[in-house]
Amino acid sequence: MTSKLGARVIPFPEEEPIYGLAARLARKNGASLPQFTREQGLSCSELLRGWANQNIAELYGVAAHELDRATFRISDKNARLRDEELLSNDWSYRTQRICADCVCEDIETCGGEEQYRAHVRAWWDLPCITVCPIHEKRLLTAAETDCAVVWDETQVAYSFAFPALAGIATTIRRAENLKAESYVLGRLGFLRRTDHPVLDRAPLWRAIRLMERVGVAKLGSAQANTQKADVSEDRPLSLGFAVLADGIHGVIECLREIKRSTGRADDEWAPRASYGRLYSWLAHQEQEGSLFDEIREAMQEEVGLAKYLRSGFTLCDR
Ligand SMILES: [Zn+2]
Repeated sequence: MTSKLGARVIPFPEEEPIYGLAARLARKNGASLPQFTREQGLSCSELLRGWANQNIAELYGVAAHELDRATFRISDKNARLRDEELLSNDWSYRTQRICADCVCEDIETCGGEEQYRAHVRAWWDLPCITVCPIHEKRLLTAAETDCAVVWDETQVAYSFAFPALAGIATTIRRAENLKAESYVLGRLGFLRRTDHPVLDRAPLWRAIRLMERVGVAKLGSAQANTQKADVSEDRPLSLGFAVLADGIHGVIECLREIKRSTGRADDEWAPRASYGRLYSWLAHQEQEGSLFDEIREAMQEEVGLAKYLRSGFTLCDR
């Protein structure tokens, strides 16, 4: 059973996850988040993963749906928000970063006491989002901001160092192309949704991987790998988004470019040698609606296999 609290903070349910609200509540009541959850008879881990929303809503005397609109529900496999599905490793509060401008704006414009106004945005927990598309600023890690943030499940605490943050806000680089981030946040309901001819046909978790795979191939060519640190700074998500804006034709054009860079002659029985990892990945995606079928068909035609293969045959060149 949860008990009511005397000191409250103003919730921002459109953008703040329940754990962020609970952390501010805890701070205002002079407790750490683990102390607060213990006192309320809650599991801190469940709270972070979006499974204690009802209990926090009870403290406010409202229905959970009024407070938890920006809270991802994390299970072993998935991270869900509204109608969208991500994989559980698409979300991590441990890698959380902040947009210095969002925080500074909160302090200036939000209601309530100044020291409790700055709040976490749920999408700061998505590792694929590295830029704030609202302020066109790179997201900063806790180390960069000098904030007293301890990302340990038993020690979660927020204390943004505001003056230090204001100094940093002017030094971060301006981002060039934020359409990919805007698209992902649009689907999750944090920004206005934009249409995309290819990505709209896949669940969000797969759309993100498609963007990343295509972006990495574009950056690093044939054998580039999404795990490689040397391409992560260049935001493959954005590059992939731009390639896919041309529809499936964009993917085929990207494969042609890879083939030109490998300089390999046509070999319809070993297309990976010419077209690289991207080809293999696309060839082995489980069928989902008709999107990946269509991509495979276009690839088969490009490689020259169509004349040999029955429709639906999976290319086997992993
Ligand atoms: Zn921002």
